[in-house]
Amino acid sequence: MITEQKTAKLTSAKAIELEDKYGAHNYHPLPVVLHRGSGVHVWDLEGKRYYDFLSAYSAVNQGHCHPDITFALTEQSRNLTLTSRAFYNSSLGLFEEYMSKLFGYDKVMAMNSGAEAVETAIKLARRWGYDKKGIPENQAKIVVCGGNFHGRTTTIISFSNDPDSYTGFGPYTPGFINIPYDDSAALAEALKDKNVAGFMAEPIQGEAGVFVPKDGYLAECRRLCTENNVLFIADEVQTGIARTGKMLAVDHENVRPDIVVLGKALSGGVLPVSAVLADDDIMLCIKPGEHGSTFGGNPLACKVAMAALDVIQNEELAQNAEELGQVFRAEIQKYVDNSTIATKVRGKGLLNAILINDTPESKTAWNICMSMKEKGLLAKPTHGNIIRFAPPLVITKSQLLECTSIICDVLAEFEKK
Ligand code: PLP
Repeated sequence: MITEQKTAKLTSAKAIELEDKYGAHNYHPLPVVLHRGSGVHVWDLEGKRYYDFLSAYSAVNQGHCHPDITFALTEQSRNLTLTSRAFYNSSLGLFEEYMSKLFGYDKVMAMNSGAEAVETAIKLARRWGYDKKGIPENQAKIVVCGGNFHGRTTTIISFSNDPDSYTGFGPYTPGFINIPYDDSAALAEALKDKNVAGFMAEPIQGEAGVFVPKDGYLAECRRLCTENNVLFIADEVQTGIARTGKMLAVDHENVRPDIVVLGKALSGGVLPVSAVLADDDIMLCIKPGEHGSTFGGNPLACKVAMAALDVIQNEELAQNAEELGQVFRAEIQKYVDNSTIATKVRGKGLLNAILINDTPESKTAWNICMSMKEKGLLAKPTHGNIIRFAPPLVITKSQLLECTSIICDVLAEFEKK
C-alpha cells in the first residue's frame, strides 16, 4: 500500500531523478518513464501512450502483460513459487517435457538470465570436450565471433570485442578464439585446432545492430562443426521464440545446433527465465552438484514459460513476424531509396534495424529516437548510428503501417538539406 501511494504521487521527472540519485549509472535510458503496458503499447506516468519498438530487447514478443501469461503467473504464485532444486517440484518436469517436445532435444536445463544460460552452454561444451572428445585437461577452447553479444558476466565479456563491455574489467577468462562473423572460411581455419570443443554464435547478431549473415552461413557452420567433432552452440536468446519469423532463427536454414540457448521471450517478459537445450550425450556430462541456480527451474517460472510458449503457438506469432517483417522492410525500403539520412534497412521477421547516415559517435540516431518518442514510438540506437526496431509480435498490420509512417515522418525531419 505504501509503495502504491508513493507511485500515485510520482511524476516522470521525479522518477528519473530518483534513478539518477539512487541507482547505479550502468544504463543510458531514453528519458521516458513507463508505468503500464498492454500488448504493443506502453504508457508513461503522465498517461501518454507509446508503441514499444524495443520489446525489452525482444523479451516481450507476446506483448506486454499478456493475459494468459499473467494468469499463469498469478495462479501459480498463489500455489508455489520456489522450492530450489533440493526437492522435486510439480511444474519442472512438465516444463522440461514441454520444451523437449517443442524443440526436439532430449533434455533442458532451466536457468534465469540469458547470460547464465550462455555460461551454462560454455560449461557444458567444455565438459563435453573433456569427457567425450578427449581434450586434455584445461585446454578446451570455444570459437566465438567478432561483434558478439552474449551477456555481461566476467567470462562472457572476456571474449567480447566491444570496448564498452570489457574495458577495465580484466583479467579475462582464457580459452576463447575470436573469428570474424559471417566468415565460414575463418571458422574452418579455427577448427583445425583439435582442442576446440564448441563454436558459439548468434544466428543474427542483435546487439551488433541486427547483422544478418549471408544465406547458407549457418548451414555451413553446422557442416564444419560436424566434420570437426565440435559442438555448434546457437545463442538464440534474442533471435529465438518467433522473433525472426521462425520459432528459432536457425530454422530459416534448417540447422539443428547441438546446444540451443534461450532466454528473454521464453517468459514473455514476465520473469527472468532462460534455458539450455541439448541431447543426452551432451547434457548428461554435467552430474549432480556440478552446476545449478537457486531459482533455475522454479515452479513459477516453469508455469509462466509454458503459458508464454502456448501464446506464441496459439497466436501464430512466428508467422505474423515473418509476414509483418516483410511489410516493415518494404515500407522502410521505399523511404531509404530516396533518403540522405537512412542508408539501409535490414533484418529478419520483426527484428530489424535502420542504418543512419552519420558517425557512431554522432547524436543523430539518438535525436531521431527522441523525436520518435515525441510522436509516440519508442526505439533505441545500438552502436551509435543504428536503430533497432523490434515491436511485440502481436502487432497488427494496420498498427505496423501507422508506425512505419511515424518512423518515415521523423526520418524526414532529419534529411540533409
Ligand atoms: N545473448 C544474447 C544474444 C543477447 O542478446 C543477450 C541480451 O541482450 C544475452 C545473451 C544476455 O541476456 P541477459 O541480459 O538476460 O543476461
